Parts: sequence; structure tokens; C-alpha cells
Amino acid sequence: MQPLRGTKDILPYEIIYWQQIYNKASDILALHNYSEIRTPIIESTNLFERTIGEATDIINKEMYSFTDQSNRKITLRPEATASIARAFISNKLYQSKLQKLWYLGPMFRYERPQSGRQRQFHQLGIECIGSLSPMADTEVIHLASKILGQLGLKNYILEINSIGSLKEREMYKVDLIKYLSQYQQDLDEDSRNRLHCNPLRILDSKNIKTQEILHYAPNLNKYLNKTSAEHFHLVCKYLDNLNIPYTINYKLVRGLDYYNHTTFEIKTNSEDSQNTICGGGRYDNLIEQLGGPKTPAVGWAIGIERLLKVIKEELELTLPQKQINVYIATQGLAAQTKIWEIVRNLEKEKIKFELDLSNTSFQKQIKRASKLGAKFCIILGDQEINNNCITTRKLNEHKQYTTPYSTFLEEINKFKH
Ligand code: ATP
Ligand code: MG
Repeated sequence: MQPLRGTKDILPYEIIYWQQIYNKASDILALHNYSEIRTPIIESTNLFERTIGEATDIINKEMYSFTDQSNRKITLRPEATASIARAFISNKLYQSKLQKLWYLGPMFRYERPQSGRQRQFHQLGIECIGSLSPMADTEVIHLASKILGQLGLKNYILEINSIGSLKEREMYKVDLIKYLSQYQQDLDEDSRNRLHCNPLRILDSKNIKTQEILHYAPNLNKYLNKTSAEHFHLVCKYLDNLNIPYTINYKLVRGLDYYNHTTFEIKTNSEDSQNTICGGGRYDNLIEQLGGPKTPAVGWAIGIERLLKVIKEELELTLPQKQINVYIATQGLAAQTKIWEIVRNLEKEKIKFELDLSNTSFQKQIKRASKLGAKFCIILGDQEINNNCITTRKLNEHKQYTTPYSTFLEEINKFKH
């Protein structure tokens, strides 16, 4: 039996990295008073169709959708922003002025699996809901950079842009289509298909010929009005004050329809084509579009699998020790009846142990204790029961000694070290 294509088991030796990411992110986010939120993995298909945008890859070809027994159209969430906007409305979270939320969980997209691209993958994300201020954009970008830095990501590039308001983009689109139409024959196939339904995405094209054509295309930046330009200027200025380096990329548009004004991405400078780790931006109309009160918002999502690929080694150095202090070997019914008092005492003292369950010879049990790297093996068999004592073996010194049972319990603390 194999897992489904594009999905992966996260095994115990890897889960420690995930826990580390969760813990570090949650500590940093708690400092900024962000609260964790968990929304359902399944939502109405309609939620994503209404928000992400008809001409996007996600809606066109990547959704995991099905009809349930009551004929409802349901989708495994491809991303969490739409779900959080839905939760914001369903739970009337708008009753408080500002919501600072974060999440970590699985997302699902039917894509061609490759390194850094899975069908079930995980995102850590934040959403700052309720503020129009450029301070909000800067705070969320700062948090992404802080979290990535603390997790040991070294060489990364923050790219930022403003895609203005819907009105500004509509004006730009007209001119962009006009310009690109002259070169229609020379565009790559994807871009040709997007020319009328989603022309902004052409700016994203990796095709060299298309990139050359784009070189002299009109610049979206020139279409921003004073308010939009000022917003972007302030976001950049605050980033300067925080000493966060960034590059302005006027072609950075992002794949989802609900963004406006600020968009940004964080990339590693590896050659890997899946080198975008974090993507985000402002989405001031999404909540209203879903039937909620007009509420501006800004957020981002980090792909955990892509992040882990680059920070695993750094993270390794900070992982907590997980050595087993005590291995418990027993033999015979009397010993196996009595051992539970010791188990309870080890628990009370928070001493890490492994209880052998194999019922094999002591020799075999001690061998396993050494293999697991335990410091001590305590041995309780018929002989110890008859003498009301317990045997302790120091595994690295190959020495063993017996202690009266009551003294053993009194001194159980010494196994801590
Ligand atoms: P891409 O252009 O690589 O497909 P995207 O624009 O679709 O990315 P977003 O929707 O912005 O990605 O998601 C934010 C982050 O989630 C990405 O930067 C990436 O790190 C991660 N991500 C997205 N899709 C996948 C996937 N299929 N497998 C693993 N990680 C993913
Ligand atoms: Mg994608």
C-alpha cells in the first residue's frame, strides 16, 4: 500500500521539526497578540469559486471537489484565507474592530507532484483583519521575516509590489492587452490563453520570449493614483525603518484574484523552481464580497514543506534533547504487577522512560535499552521480588548494582541526570 500521489506521511523523526516550527511561530505571533484559529478542512465549493477567481489555476484545475450524500458541492480547502474570511462572517468576529489571526494546517491542490509541490501540503499563515493602515502591511511582512529568520532561514529575498485598486487595474489591463496583442503570436501558449481572461498573470510568466516582450510593456506602477502610491510608499518606508531589505518587483501580481494594493513574496535564492516560500498581500474587498461588512485585511501564507527543505539543517541544531533516561526491564508476573508503582513515580518526577513490553530475556531487553541510547536500565525479576530490591544497570559503564526497593523509590530523582 502506498499513500496517494502527492501526499506524504510525516513520520516521528520528522514531526519534531514541525513541532519546532509550530512552537517558534506561535511564540513570535503571541508577542504581537495574534491568536490561533482552526477552520474546517472542508467548505462549500462555492466559497472558493466566489473568492479565488475563475481564471486562476486553483479554480480551473486544482480543486479537490466532490458531492456529499446530500448532493452538496464540497471542496477540500486549497488555501485558508477564504475560509478565515468565511469564519470571520459566520462568527461575527467583526464585532471587535481588529482581528489578528494565525493558522497552520493542510491544504489540497490537484497539481503535478514534484519537489516542493504536493497535493496535500501545509501552510502557516496569518491574517490581520480590520485595518487599512500601511502599518498593518508592514507588521505582517515583519512577522514573516521574523519567523523565517528565527527558524534559521538565511538567504532570502523579499519582493514587494503594489497592484493598486480594482479600478486602477482595470485601466491597466486595457493597455496591457492592447500592448500584448501586438505580439500575440510570439507569446507562450499559457500567456496567449490568459491574454483576455487573466492578463495580469502573464507578468508572472517564466517564458523567456514572453519576458522579453514584457520588457517594454506598460508598467502597473504608473497607473496607481495618489492614495495607492502613498500607501505603497509608506509600507516601504516602514520596512526601511525596520531594516528589512526588499526588492520592488513591478511585475509581482500573485495568483489569486482577491488581492489589491500590497503584494509580496519571499523567495530563497536557490536555483530550485519551487523557491517561493511565502506569498501574501492585502485583500480589502474579500469579506464584503462574501456578504460581510466592508473590512480591509492583509496576510500571508508560508509553505511548510518548502521551508523545511531549506531550514532542516539549521533547525537540527536547536532541537531539544530527547534521550531516554530509564529503560524498564521486567520478567514474571510478580514483577510485572509491581512495576506500575515505579512507572507512576517516574511520571511524577518527569523522568523519560521506555517500558519494555517484549517479555523476552533480560539480556535481550538490556540490549534494546543500549540500542535506544538509554542511560540506565532498571531490572525487576523474580530474584529482585524475592529480595525486595531492584537492580540498576548503568548502560555506558556496564556496571550494575542492587538497591532495597524503598531506597530506590526515595532516590528515584537521581535518574533525572
Ligand atoms: P506556486 O506559484 O508555487 O504554485 P502559489 O502562488 O500557488 O505558488 P500560494 O497560493 O501563494 O502559492 O501559497 C503560498 C505558499 O504555499 C507558496 O509560496 C508555497 O510555499 C506554498 N505552496 C503552494 N502550493 C503548494 C504545493 N502544491 N505544494 C507545496 N507548497 C505549496
Ligand atoms: Mg500554485
